[in-house]
Formats: sequence, C-alpha cells, structure tokens
Amino acid sequence: MLDDFKEQQELIYNILINSINNNKVSHAYLFETNGELDEYNIIIAFAKSLICPQHYTNNKKCGDCTICKRIESNNYTELNFIEPDGLLIKREQLIKVQEEYNKIGIEGEYRIYIIKECEKMNKQTANSILKFLEEPVPNVIAILVTNNINKVLDTIISRCQHIKLHKNNKLTNTLENVCNLICKTKSDKENFILKEENQKIASNIVNFVTYYEKNKLNTLIYIKEKWNDLYNTKELVDNALNLMTIFYFDVLKLKFNTNNYFFNDFLDELKIVAFLNTEKDIIRKIEILIKNREYLKCNLNLNLLINRILIEFGGEIYGNSCC
Ligand SMILES: [Zn+2]
Repeated sequence: MLDDFKEQQELIYNILINSINNNKVSHAYLFETNGELDEYNIIIAFAKSLICPQHYTNNKKCGDCTICKRIESNNYTELNFIEPDGLLIKREQLIKVQEEYNKIGIEGEYRIYIIKECEKMNKQTANSILKFLEEPVPNVIAILVTNNINKVLDTIISRCQHIKLHKNNKLTNTLENVCNLICKTKSDKENFILKEENQKIASNIVNFVTYYEKNKLNTLIYIKEKWNDLYNTKELVDNALNLMTIFYFDVLKLKFNTNNYFFNDFLDELKIVAFLNTEKDIIRKIEILIKNREYLKCNLNLNLLINRILIEFGGEIYGNSCC
C-alpha cells in the first residue's frame, strides 16, 4: 500500500495521499521514475488507493480485499497497461484504449490506464491521445511512466501532473555491484578493454547472444558451428564468456539509459536483447556467466560448459559444482 512508500518517497507520498484525501485527483499523471527499479510498486499502490473501496476510509488501509488482490494479479478489468509493441507504442494501441475508456465503467469509482515507457511514442502517436488527456472522461485516470523524461514530448508533459520519484541509490548500486562482479580489480577491467583481439571476436559474441535470445534453447542444435568450433581452448572460452558478460552488462546499462558501452558498435543488438529481458533476467544471466567461468579452473568438458550455461539461462538449475 501507499504507506509503504512514506519514508522512501516522502514528497510523492504526501502529494498523492493529499490528492486522494481532498478529492483532488488529477486526470493524468506523468511518473518520472529516475532509475527506481520498483517504480510499478508505488504506482500499483497508488492505483489500489484509488480503486479499493476500503482504502483510507475509517482509517482502514486495505491491501488484501478481493479488489486489491485482483489489481495485484493484473486481473482487474478497469486497470490496464499499455507498453511498447516492439520498440514503439503504436497509434492503434492508444486508440483502442480510448475506445475502451470512453465506455461507461462498471466496477469502481476510478478507471485507470498506465502507459509504460511513454517516451516511446512518436509525435503522430502522441497526437492521438492528447485530446483524450486534455478532455478526459470523468473518473478515468491516465498514468504515464518514463525513465527518460528528456525524450517525452512537451505536449505530453504539459498535460500531466509531473510526479518525480526521488532518485534511488539502487540504480547506481546495481550497476556498481554488477561491475564489481565482472571486474574484480580495476586493472583487470583496463586490461580487458585494451586487448585488441577482443574487438575481433566481439562481433561473433554479439551474433551468438542475439541468436540465443531469439531462439533460446534451439541454439543448442547449432552449438557446434556457433560455439564449439570457434572457442575450442580454455583461454578462448574464458575470453568469450567474459565478453558475453560484458555484453549483458551493456544491455543492463542501456536499460538504465547510461551511456558508455563497450559494445558501442552494436546498439541495435543491445536494444533487441534489452527488449527481450527484464533487469532481473540480465543480472541473473551475468551471475550465471560469472559462476560458470569459474568452472574453467576445473578439468571439465569445454563443449558442455556452454550447454550448461544456456540451460541455466533458460531457468533450469544445474547443481552447484562441476567436478
Ligand atoms: Zn482493498
């Protein structure tokens, strides 16, 4: 519930609670998430506060009535998410939402739609929703969410109440932690980047990872030509796994809109992989890579190591040791 964010996001908490208590809920909000990883938790808590009939009445702070549970499990019909279809939010998606929300509501007092990554609208798409944001249907609330306010069109910003989540250290910490995992010492990191041969195999690695991300475990069918033939010594495998780790780290940085990628020449591929994974997926994959790279120190079947990694990527657990 919203109270959970009282300390963490004090200012925002007060704005939202006051608007609910004083019946001054805006018809459109723009949440600037500022790298907050749990941004949807506070937004869902806000939605519950608006929709749940038991919220903040008689000092009851609900969270587990049927309605709250349906909201939580994404089964509440009058709370809907719109997210980019491919790399962009499409005009048709927004038109469909407007048609839906122009009808009369059935369930609760408020009906809410949430547009994720709202910076991913082009001008034409945005135009299709401007009027709807400006002259809203009573009790319909739009919540637009972005982690990149600089890319949100001014026409959108000016029509919404801007809610700027307090910058959370989590983002910097996550990136730093992952970077520390990858490069144990600073000099390791520098050596790695300077090695010239890494540039040459970088594109092979990018091809392999994007192929895997699109085809998942079917990659194993072609593993001989795509991996085993290319990386047939411990050193080559070690280097390849390191590059794979750095690639996923770049994907994570891209998700957080940080610049300075090692794989700068492969932005399209980074975007594809970023689209196919959540932040948690990427961190998990980086951990799997680091763990399995350690196994190179043992006497193991090199060809099987990559199978094991891809299977673990897919969510299967493979025990904790190799030898
Ligand atoms: Zn409730």
